[in-house]
Amino acid sequence: MVYDILIVGAGVCGGMIARELSKYDLRVCLLEKANDVAAGASKANSGIIHGGYDPEPGTLKQKLNTEGVKLLFEAAEELSVPYLRNGSMVCAFSEYEEEQLRELYSRGISNGVQGLKLLSGDEARALESNLSQSVTLALHVPEAGIICPYKLTIAAVGNAMDNGVTLMRNFEVTSIKHKDGFFGLTSSAGDWVSGKYLINCAGGYSGKIAAMAGDDSIEIIPRAGEYMLLDRSEGKTVSHTIFRAPSKEGKGILVSPTADGNLLLGPTAVRVDTPDSTETTREGLAAVIRSVKESVPTVDLSKVITSFTGVRASHMDGDFIIAQSKLVKNLVNVAAIDSPGLTACAAIARYVTDILDSMGVKLCAKPDWNGKREDTEAFSKLTDEQKDAVIKKDPAYGRIICRCEGITEGEIRHALRKNPPALDMDGVKRRSRSGMGRCQGGFCAPYVMKLIAEEQGIKLEEVTKNGGGSKMLTGRI
Ligand SMILES: Cc1cc2nc3c(=O)[nH]c(=O)nc-3n(C[C@H](O)[C@H](O)[C@H](O)COP(=O)(O)OP(=O)(O)OC[C@H]3O[C@@H](n4cnc5c(N)ncnc54)[C@H](O)[C@@H]3O)c2cc1C
Repeated sequence: MVYDILIVGAGVCGGMIARELSKYDLRVCLLEKANDVAAGASKANSGIIHGGYDPEPGTLKQKLNTEGVKLLFEAAEELSVPYLRNGSMVCAFSEYEEEQLRELYSRGISNGVQGLKLLSGDEARALESNLSQSVTLALHVPEAGIICPYKLTIAAVGNAMDNGVTLMRNFEVTSIKHKDGFFGLTSSAGDWVSGKYLINCAGGYSGKIAAMAGDDSIEIIPRAGEYMLLDRSEGKTVSHTIFRAPSKEGKGILVSPTADGNLLLGPTAVRVDTPDSTETTREGLAAVIRSVKESVPTVDLSKVITSFTGVRASHMDGDFIIAQSKLVKNLVNVAAIDSPGLTACAAIARYVTDILDSMGVKLCAKPDWNGKREDTEAFSKLTDEQKDAVIKKDPAYGRIICRCEGITEGEIRHALRKNPPALDMDGVKRRSRSGMGRCQGGFCAPYVMKLIAEEQGIKLEEVTKNGGGSKMLTGRI
């Protein structure tokens, strides 16, 4: 099969672009090196839908952030991805930071952000009782929100697949040939795929993918951000996302509820050697704790259930690079998509489609395109009557597998069947939340492994944590 469009990278950008292109009569193939989608920055970020006060006016970041907020809320509705418009507050602790906030306020107004307000420390504490007494001024951004970034990516890719897009996982692009108007991509396993147009959405590796295609103009600077995640019992410590005043390094360390009801602390911003530097460090987590204790002193660190690191794909210029390559015909780079790339992803998808249109790609709308992706409500959130009705239809919903989160066998089987089906333990975890709770899978893991083996018709020994050699078991004893 020769595809019209090849997309490298199934993060939130590749996923949303695939979904946008699935509206048209095009053969689209999405290539991902990992065993699942959302394997890069799209699985490990703050999940904030940024109001848009921060980007410099006139930049691509500003344009796509501003347009992206509304489009993202719409996409989340269509794709049944949980989100919340909880609003955010940027807090100042000194005269210097107060000045910064006033600048952000003016920038936000000129960027067209609605409802911005500067609050005194007491006004801010009236909205957030756990906020530090040292906060002297706060910028209130009611338009901001929170969303689960990997659920969004999974839903976008799933919806694209339902509308005809092909997803190839475990396809690590290692070489690209461009000949006679076609790109030929080879994977590390020796597989091969060909297409007329190439969209490079490879996140931290977008510079490398561009170079493989013959465009060596992009240099990505990986910057790590470390986080701590607290149990759901702490999810109401704050209702807004609480930011510090931003610095050159980024938007600062935040305290925020997540769309799933946990409490998130972080991220740091440290330059690292590779996009795969996802380890957490003693220094990084200590920096998170120091900052958090200053802004919300009541955060209970005994409730930390996990820590993780996401790596930003940054660039010297500071702006997104989304354009047709000047060096390689029919290559579109979607590179250096650091924050607010999640917020902007739906706008990025539209922007890329417009670029393809200007390059002469025929965009004939499919009459049967369906942008809706229904998803069942989490079983634990149903009323007793609703639970009874669901169990009557499928008794697998009557068996609880993950005790911490109350996840049923029915939900896990659903995660293993619905596009894009989970193939491993992490895939099940991200789709169903089984293993996301306080015990982090200590109790449910053996049961989930059994269900994966059963659904895929493989041996228990072949079940992996996240593909490749990450086997859960070494053998029978
Ligand atoms: C710490 C941190 C905090 C952030 N917070 C926010 C926030 O609150 N709000 C916000 O709007 N944005 C935020 N962002 C930015 C946001 O996460 C990114 O902009 C977004 O996830 C980028 O998506 P992407 O699809 O471009 O890249 P990625 O998600 O990195 O996807 C790239 C994909 O390409 C694949 N790939 C790479 N090389 C190859 C290859 N050779 N062959 C095949 N596949 C390949 C990778 O496996 C990966 O799945 C944050 C980012 C970080 C790291």
